[in-house]
Amino acid sequence: NQLNLRFRDYSFNSRKLTTMHPTNDPELKSFINTEPDSHFPIQNLPYGVCSPKEGGSAFICTAIGNYVLNLAELEQAGVFDGPELDGKRPFSELALNTFLSMGHKAWMEARSVISNLLDADEPSLRDNESLRELVLIPMDKVEMLLPVRIGDYTDFYSSEQHALNVGTMFRGVENALKPNWRHLPVGYHGRSSSVVVSGTDIHRPQGQILSGDGETPGFHPSDRVDFELEVGFITGEGNRLGEPIPVNKAREHIFGLVLVNDWSARDIQKWEYQPLGPFLAKNWATSISPWIVTLDALEPFRTGGPQQDPKPLPYLRSDRGWYDIELEVYLQGEQMQEPHRMAASNYKYLYWNMNQQLAHQTITGCDVQPGDLYASGTISGPLEDSYGSLLELSWNGERPLKLPNGEERAFLRDGDTVTMTGYARGDGYRIGFGEVKGKILPAKEL
Ligand code: MN
Repeated sequence: NQLNLRFRDYSFNSRKLTTMHPTNDPELKSFINTEPDSHFPIQNLPYGVCSPKEGGSAFICTAIGNYVLNLAELEQAGVFDGPELDGKRPFSELALNTFLSMGHKAWMEARSVISNLLDADEPSLRDNESLRELVLIPMDKVEMLLPVRIGDYTDFYSSEQHALNVGTMFRGVENALKPNWRHLPVGYHGRSSSVVVSGTDIHRPQGQILSGDGETPGFHPSDRVDFELEVGFITGEGNRLGEPIPVNKAREHIFGLVLVNDWSARDIQKWEYQPLGPFLAKNWATSISPWIVTLDALEPFRTGGPQQDPKPLPYLRSDRGWYDIELEVYLQGEQMQEPHRMAASNYKYLYWNMNQQLAHQTITGCDVQPGDLYASGTISGPLEDSYGSLLELSWNGERPLKLPNGEERAFLRDGDTVTMTGYARGDGYRIGFGEVKGKILPAKEL
């Protein structure tokens, strides 16, 4: 049985925090009411960029309950007057890159100011009706945009279960993992130009495809369009060319996380990928969720990772950088009444953590910049319903999945909408990511 793999034991060393920042206090309440299952309680305060649907200019914002909070207006009003932010006006821009470049002290200053401003016991915004009207806008009245200008995009391949599944399918269980896999976080350089925000619909790509036992390729729309359930980190302050980021300093260079759907064309990939890896199979679209959830908000959900054997080389040794974030993928075809859950996984299932990924990326002296995107690779858990791609869920198309309305899916059809969501589960609250959503449209005629 091909599915009967050697599963890794995901027994995590649980970690108790010795200190907790006041902005992470589970008891904190905002004067804006948030339900226990809201993704955006006062403990979260993610960053995004939105524009009013009724017109008007875009602005940097945070989310609280069902509202966005306009940080550009608050900056104009002089709210951010602490030592790190005063006079610098990073929130008056149309992307978060400048704020990201300012470093962790500035991020914590902003987080503390916003948390205090939204606190149920703080009257300055709560009791100022005209300021409230100006800066708090119902979320359904705005359209979310890309939160950063993404300079570079790397996609890793850091889930052992995913690598085992795909390797087993194509090379057999004995050769599933290549010899390098447990020594370094395998990755490739992707395309930042085609990173799009949630809600952007995507045309099915076409290209060279070698069918069945053929020897020469045909040219047609991909028959094997797939999603990949991933989480990406967004970099803050970068490094100079030639100066690696040490693994124990990587945390200071990472601002926060987004959900990533790394759309893939498996048949195009299969023909083109040797010997240099994915090229066109993955360059046509990568979708991200619009809110960057900060590592500072996720700190209470940091967790231990899997035992790494063999022990990584010294430049890759890090036991921090895993977070307990529940992830789900839903699919809704055009004939379906509601989305159907295809898989549930968790960010903690990664073998290589984000600090190791960033240390590896920069060990040659490669420079990163504020607002770069580093995706985890497909995150598959140990169970068959925790696999993060249709390639794995349908086992290379051999076992199509049954949908509630009787349809089957091995790969995506035109009109299918894929929605991914994720959150860390606190006691009575959630630190959520919202969602990343996209619909597959028919291929464009040449
Ligand atoms: Mn990927």
